[in-house]
Amino acid sequence: MPPHASLVSHVQRDRAALVVGVVAAAFATVQTAGQAGVIERWRQALASGGWHLDELLLLFLVPLLALLTISGRAVGQLRRDIAGRDRESARTRDLALRDPLTGLFNRRGLDDALATQCSGNRLVFVADLDTFKAFNDTHGHAVGDVLLQRLADRLRSMQTAFGGVAARLGGDEFVFVAPPIPDEQVIRERLSAPLFLECIGAVDVSVGAARCDDIDSVEQALESADLAMYKAKRDRALTRASLDHPAERAFERDPAHDPLVAATYAVVAIGVEQFRSVKHALGYGHAGKLARAMRERVQAHFPNLAVERLSSDVLGVLVPVEAVEETIAALQMLSGSYLLEGVAVESGMAFGHAVPRGDAGLRDTVEQAQFALDEARRLGRVSVNFDYNAQLRQRDNVELMNDLQNAITMNALQLYYQPKVDARTNLIDSFEALVRWPCVKRGMISPADFIPVAEESGDIRALTLWVLERACADRVILDKLKIMQPLYINISARLVSDDAFTKRLIAALLSTNGRIGIEVTETAVLENPACALDNLSLIATAGVPIAIDDYGAGLSSLTYLKQMPANELKIDMSFIRDLADSHRGPLIVRSTIDLAHSLGLRVTAEGVDKPEIMALLKVMGCDIIQGHQIARPMTLEALLGFVDTYVPEDLAAAPMAARLLGYAES
Ligand code: C2E
Ligand code: MG
Ligand code: MG
Repeated sequence: MPPHASLVSHVQRDRAALVVGVVAAAFATVQTAGQAGVIERWRQALASGGWHLDELLLLFLVPLLALLTISGRAVGQLRRDIAGRDRESARTRDLALRDPLTGLFNRRGLDDALATQCSGNRLVFVADLDTFKAFNDTHGHAVGDVLLQRLADRLRSMQTAFGGVAARLGGDEFVFVAPPIPDEQVIRERLSAPLFLECIGAVDVSVGAARCDDIDSVEQALESADLAMYKAKRDRALTRASLDHPAERAFERDPAHDPLVAATYAVVAIGVEQFRSVKHALGYGHAGKLARAMRERVQAHFPNLAVERLSSDVLGVLVPVEAVEETIAALQMLSGSYLLEGVAVESGMAFGHAVPRGDAGLRDTVEQAQFALDEARRLGRVSVNFDYNAQLRQRDNVELMNDLQNAITMNALQLYYQPKVDARTNLIDSFEALVRWPCVKRGMISPADFIPVAEESGDIRALTLWVLERACADRVILDKLKIMQPLYINISARLVSDDAFTKRLIAALLSTNGRIGIEVTETAVLENPACALDNLSLIATAGVPIAIDDYGAGLSSLTYLKQMPANELKIDMSFIRDLADSHRGPLIVRSTIDLAHSLGLRVTAEGVDKPEIMALLKVMGCDIIQGHQIARPMTLEALLGFVDTYVPEDLAAAPMAARLLGYAES
C-alpha cells in the first residue's frame, strides 16, 4: 500500500472517532444533567411555560460547553494524531527512499528527487570503490562500511558545494547528478581522489561521467557514466597489475604464507595463453571470464590446493614441492575449450614453476615462478623451471637498457660501414651501415646483443634516428669525395609500421636522391601488413631503395615478398655459410636467386667469408657479395681508405674456384 493511502485511511478513522466523540459527549451531558435533577426542572419549566435565566443557561450553555470541550479535545487529539502520523509516515517514506548505511538517497530516492527538479542539463557521475570486495573480505564488513560512509560523506559535501543530488545505487556504487558547472573536471578530481582509511591506507575510487540534456535522459546518462567508470576501473586495474607486486597479495590467506610452511611449497604460475587474443577479439570482460573460468576449473580439479590470480592472465597454484611435475602434467589436461557467454574459446596454458631456495619467502617464489613463465612464453615452451642465471641475465638486460639509453643521448654510438661488391664486375656496389657501441663497462658490444634489447625497451626509435642522422652526415662527406655508392641503413621491423617514424625517415632521405637506402626484414610486414606495406610504398615512392634483409631466416611468405616494393633481396648468411658443405644448400640458394630475379630483385649474399663460396655464388648468378671475404665493417675513416686502395681485379679468381668445388652451372 502506498504511504499516502495509509494516511487517508487514518484520517477517515479519525473522522469517525470525532462523530462518536460528539455523540458520546451529548449523551454524557444529558446523563449528568439528569442526575443533577436538571431534566426534571426543564420538564416543569416547559409545562409551566416559564423559564428562568439559570435554567436557560443550564438548558443550552452547559451541554454546548460540554460538547465544545469534549469535541475540542477530540479535534486536538485528532490533529496531534494526524501530525504524528504525518511525521511517522514521512519518516517511513523517507526511510524507503534512503540508504540506511550512508543516509544518501537510494535508487528510488534519486528518481523521486530528480523528478522534483526542473529540467535542464545535468552532469552524471558514477563513483565506485576499487577492489572493495577484497577489502571487505580481507578486513571485514565493519571496515567496508566505514569506507562506504567516507565516500558518502564526500558526495554529501559535494552536494552542499555544487547542489544536485547524491545517491548510493547499491553495493559500492554511488552517483552524483550535478547541475552544469563550468569546470566538471573539479568534480571529477574531487570524486576520484583516493580515500584514506587509517587501518588500510589509500583506496582508489573510479569515476565515470556523462552529460544529459534533460531529466528524462538521466537513465541513459547513468548507463554511459557507468560504462565510463568501469573502463576507468579496468584501466587502473591493468596498470595496477603491471605495477603492483602481485606476490604481495597472492596466497595471503593461505597457511603457506607462514614462512615455515612456505618452504615446502613450490609455486606453479599458469599462463592463460589466449587471454590477449580474447581481450582483443571479445573485450576485457570476456578475457577476465576466461581467466576466472580457468581458475575455477583448476580449483575444481585440485580442491586441496590454493589457487590465486596473480595478474590478469596468470594464475598461481601452491603445490607441495615433491608433486610439481605430476601436478603440471595434470594441469596440462585442463587446457581446452571454455564457453564464455555462448562463445567457445580454446585456451592453452604455459607454466613457470619455482621451488623455494634458501631463505626465500613465498613472495620470492611467486615472483620466480612468474619469471619462469615469462621465459616459457618467450621461448615458446610449455613449461620452464626457474633458472637463477636466466634471471641474472634479465637483470643485466635491464641495466643494459639504461646504459644504452645514455649512450644514445650522449652520442656514444658509432656507425661502421661494410662494403658490398658487384659479383660480375667486382666493383663496389654499396655499403651497409652497422651500428657499434663501444661501452665503457663492457667493451665493444655486438648489435646482435643490444638491438633486441633496444627493440624491447622501445629505444630502437631513438637509436635508428641517431643512425639516420649520422648516415646523412656521412653521406654529405662521401658525396663531397665523389663516392656515390649508396649507403643502406637497417630499419627494425617494428618501425616500419610506425607512421610518424616513416614520415621522418622520408623527410630525412628525400634530399639524398636514393643514395641512402634501407634494409628491412620480411617479418616487418607480418604483424601489420597493410600499414607496413603502405609505409614501404611511401618510402619507395620517395626514391629510397629498399633491400629485404635476412631472407629465409624468418617466416618467408611469397605473398608479402611479391608485394614489398623492394629492389634487392639479401639471402640470410645461415644459407651462405654452409653453402659448400651440403647438397641442399646450393639448391636452396640457387632457387632463391632465381625466384628473386623473377620478381625483378637483385640478390645479395651476406656473410661471404670464404673464396670458394664467393666463387660459387658468382656462378649461381648472385648479383652482390657482402662479407669478410671482401671486407669487415669499418669506420667511415677506414672506409675512405678502403675505397681509395680497392683493386677489383684481386677478386677475379671465382670461376676456377667453382670448378674446383665440382659445381657446374646447369
Ligand atoms: P645484418 O643487418 O644482417 O648485418 C650483417 C651482419 O653480418 C653484421 O653483423 C655484419 O658484421 C655481419 N657480417 C658481415 N659479413 C660477415 C661475414 O663474412 N661473416 C660473419 N660471421 N659475419 C658477417 P653485426 O654488425 O654484428 O650486426 C648484426 C645485426 O644487428 C645486423 O644484421 C642487423 O640486423 C643488426 N643491426 C646492426 N646495425 C643496426 C642498426 O643500425 N639498426 C638496426 N635496426 N639493426 C642493426
Ligand atoms: Mg642488414
Ligand atoms: Mg642481414
